[in-house]
Amino acid sequence: MNIQVLGAHNCESQKAKLVSLLIDDVLAIDAGGLTSSLSFEAQQKIKATLLTHQHYDHIRDVPIMAMNALLHETTINVYSIQAVYDALATHFLNGETYANFMEKPQENPIIKFTVIKPNKVEQIAGYSILAVSVNHSVPTVGYQITSPDGKIVFYTGDTGPGLADCWQSVSPQLLIIEVTAPDRYEEFGRKLLHLTPSLLKPELISFQKLKGYLPPVITVHMNPSQEEEIGAEIALLAQELNASITLAYEGMQIHL
Ligand SMILES: [Zn+2]
Ligand SMILES: [Zn+2]
Repeated sequence: MNIQVLGAHNCESQKAKLVSLLIDDVLAIDAGGLTSSLSFEAQQKIKATLLTHQHYDHIRDVPIMAMNALLHETTINVYSIQAVYDALATHFLNGETYANFMEKPQENPIIKFTVIKPNKVEQIAGYSILAVSVNHSVPTVGYQITSPDGKIVFYTGDTGPGLADCWQSVSPQLLIIEVTAPDRYEEFGRKLLHLTPSLLKPELISFQKLKGYLPPVITVHMNPSQEEEIGAEIALLAQELNASITLAYEGMQIHL
């Protein structure tokens, strides 16, 4: 399994892109930094796009991916929970903000949106996909992705503290998890349901306790302007837990 980090942040500039991952060139997860990172040819190679939740920084590229598909006379496959479908249909692809590509053209809609349910394994583009609910301000699922050769990664999407239930359902060889802000924003993290290094710590300890191991951990969704601070705190945490915890960056390639 080859995982490309296309976007690793919660904000965008020339250097920072919104969270998007691409697995083996064919499976995309979250759509904040897909179109801005990929050529048209590369976009056409994507067989499925999984969305974790409806927040703008995770769905932004869906309408323009659809337009690209239309112009290339093809269609796209998007998978997520009902809440994400509803948000896209109501606010984004509603025939006002943009064309409703989930229904048009009537005979063959550009976006084939499949609603998936948490805790049920789906076969998507040759991968076994398990959506698992996490603790965020809107309905959100993380995805455990198992490749045909048995490699397993779990990406949480945006989440606050309280992942113990989620850990029951997954057994990844690599954990990709959000860490949005440094420790001094712990209160903000608890309230708005994001993680800081200090909030990540008990989550990793609970994983280790439950599972008896801790996989390598990669963080995404960092606030670019606080990244140095987050990095220093993550380095201390990694030392303390004797764990591998790395901040993701745009262009990072991970081989599992
Ligand atoms: Zn969010
Ligand atoms: Zn986000």
